Amino acid sequence: MAELQRIGVVGAGQMGAGIAHVSALAGYDVVVFDVSHERALQGIGGITANLDRQLAGGKITAGERDAALSRITAADGVGDLAEADLVIEAATEDEAVKRRIFAQVCDVLRPEALLATNTSSISITRLAASTDRPERFLGIHFMNPVPVMKLVELVRGIATADETYETARAYVARLGKAMTVSEDFPAFIVNRILMPMINEAIYTLYEGVGSVENIDASMRLGANHPMGPLQLADFIGLDTCLSIMQVLHDGLSDSKYRPCPLLVKYVEAGWLGRKTGRGFYDYRGETPVPTR
Ligand code: NAD
Repeated sequence: MAELQRIGVVGAGQMGAGIAHVSALAGYDVVVFDVSHERALQGIGGITANLDRQLAGGKITAGERDAALSRITAADGVGDLAEADLVIEAATEDEAVKRRIFAQVCDVLRPEALLATNTSSISITRLAASTDRPERFLGIHFMNPVPVMKLVELVRGIATADETYETARAYVARLGKAMTVSEDFPAFIVNRILMPMINEAIYTLYEGVGSVENIDASMRLGANHPMGPLQLADFIGLDTCLSIMQVLHDGLSDSKYRPCPLLVKYVEAGWLGRKTGRGFYDYRGETPVPTR
């Protein structure tokens, strides 16, 4: 089994930054690549703030924080991923975007290096087939926020080699995360169950059954969920939620996965949730205010 030392992360958004954060804390060298050096640096700025929060909360020491930060660099271009032993793609949930990234990355990656995707829903087998290394490709699906959430779902494509899977297991174990294994079907386990619930919450709002606040309070207090489903949708990103519903709808051809038209409308407006300052709540003031 290959020993990993250098991890490449593609996408410095909320997930890519989180993956870089936990990998660096576990002692891996990390290179973060995004559409620009500035975007990658912005991601590292977020990691710094989150490490500081962990330090303030007594979860890590100042030495661990500094060591982790010293291991993370922002890529100037895709060529900076050339030395990576494993590249984890955590870019926008869009198959065309991911395919373009894999083509770029495979061009510079050593033949023995592994490639993984953090996709929430897209077929691992199909993504793997678009690369030059389907046997060294798999899904490593982290949960948001990565430094806090315990679980990682591992998803093998039809061609994923045993050695690839074992190397990924060892990597996830070194991060101190728990693992589950999902077969390669649309949205895997967590999002197959979670996303239709969120979509149904949006239908509940769309049909006027309840207000934003009543829907969220109902599920927090009535089902003991730590966050209401609309709050959670904003946290995940409404574009990501819509993409996952579309993958479920297309992949399973069942009308029960039809994305709610209200979700489509929010995404069309660019109201993507926390990351854009507005979704089912408006986050631009002191406290979040429902947007309808
Ligand atoms: P995000 O919008 O926060 O970040 C996406 C990043 O990808 C951005 O920084 C963007 O600039 C970058 N990007 C886009 N095109 C790129 C390209 N061609 N090359 C390099 N970088 C590019 O999204 P996110 O929430 O971090 O989600 C990323 C992935 O993780 C998606 O596949 C999503 O389904 C998955 N995921 C998300 C969550 C969640 O709760 N948000 C949870 C698990 C998995």
